[in-house]
Amino acid sequence: MTQTEAGESDKRLSLTAKIMIAMGAGLIVGVALNMLQIPILNEHLVEGFFGMIGTMFVNALKMLVVPLVAFSLICGVAGIGDISALGRVGGRSLALYIFTTFVAIVLAICLALIIGPGQGFVLEGIDTSGVSAAEAPSAWEVFANIIPGNPIAAFANGDMLQVIFYVIIVGIAAVMLGEQSKSFIAACEYMNELMMKIVNIVMAAAPYGVFCLIAKTFAEQGLHLFGPVLGYVITLVSALFIHLFVVLMAILAITTRLSPRMFLQKMRNVQIFAFSTATSSGTIPVTYRTVTERLGVDPSVASFTVPFGATINMDGTAIMQGVATVFLVNVYGVELGLGGYATVIGMAVLASIGTAGVPGVGMVMLTMVLGQVGLPIEGIAIVLGVDRLMDMIRTAVNVTGDAVVSVVVAKAEDKIDVDVFNDPDAGAIDDESFEIDHEAEQKLSEIAHKHVG
Ligand code: ASP
Repeated sequence: MTQTEAGESDKRLSLTAKIMIAMGAGLIVGVALNMLQIPILNEHLVEGFFGMIGTMFVNALKMLVVPLVAFSLICGVAGIGDISALGRVGGRSLALYIFTTFVAIVLAICLALIIGPGQGFVLEGIDTSGVSAAEAPSAWEVFANIIPGNPIAAFANGDMLQVIFYVIIVGIAAVMLGEQSKSFIAACEYMNELMMKIVNIVMAAAPYGVFCLIAKTFAEQGLHLFGPVLGYVITLVSALFIHLFVVLMAILAITTRLSPRMFLQKMRNVQIFAFSTATSSGTIPVTYRTVTERLGVDPSVASFTVPFGATINMDGTAIMQGVATVFLVNVYGVELGLGGYATVIGMAVLASIGTAGVPGVGMVMLTMVLGQVGLPIEGIAIVLGVDRLMDMIRTAVNVTGDAVVSVVVAKAEDKIDVDVFNDPDAGAIDDESFEIDHEAEQKLSEIAHKHVG
């Protein structure tokens, strides 16, 4: 490597470094503000300024999700070669997503049964009013609603399963029309490129967004909330880490023979985005960019597996439900036999398919699970105080699962560029990502003038 090359790669690494520094700084500032508790700062700096920048950042990510999924998936369907491959990618990823969620919750329940959090917990002084159970969706409903009655509504609501279904049908029809679809596909490819450029722009703003989100969260979340439920938190975080670093990495290494270390290194940005925003749906643009440009997965696979995973795959969320169930079983001193736990596992897997990856949805899912096995729903109030932070960690696990399955499916389909995967610098955002081609700019301006004239 020449000196300039080394210099360039230093520069390329700088976005991740900046984001990590922003996260650390946000944490320190947030904890400090929480300890100081100055009303004027809480109102104008934390709620006001940090809240505003954080919301802007999350909105900027969300605004990309539907168009990016739509255009990339049309290109993906057109680019996959033969339509039967699409069925294979769909089948494989569905099976793997269900499998990893299943493993996650079984691991969580076993670990929680061993550690036994919640034993001897004193229930007094906790306001458990105002918690009610959400209606569990039936499997039939979940499947029936995959077909959107009104695609515009599906796009407007960001209903990802419906959007995916509709776009795949459009893509298949476009392929069937053959030659006639040439300019349509070219336009979608262009729009896809355009969206990816905007992803780069949003990612460049990440250090500021991440700083504000983290600072706000920690300024608002007193660490004192952790005391009473420390056993729950320790068990949950341990299960999340074991799943992330052992189970998922073992699946990756065994099925693909690719390096988990390289994978984790490249996933750091995605995990931080997921951690600070607590939404795997909102993180789709960053996950998709990383999976395709940094991990080398062909867009024809990733355009499907990434949004599909963000919607149906929630390993971290399932883990939370397993640990929370055992915790509440211990708190209330009730028995939940093998059948009860089997119901919890089934419900958690189904709920994770039927609900979108947005902040706090795991708690809603937990009310469904508890209701199903007859545990007091009010118990949720006990763990609610620490849920924001737990949500952040489990969302990072959720998106990692999405990326692992994308790589595994791509490897099985021979749709991964292993050289890109193994190149530490591949796809890293650098200054070149923002360069404007002045010659092209001039030409475009001439064309525009012609039109206006
Ligand atoms: N926030 C999580 C996600 O978006 C879902 C949850 O566990 O609440 O993946």
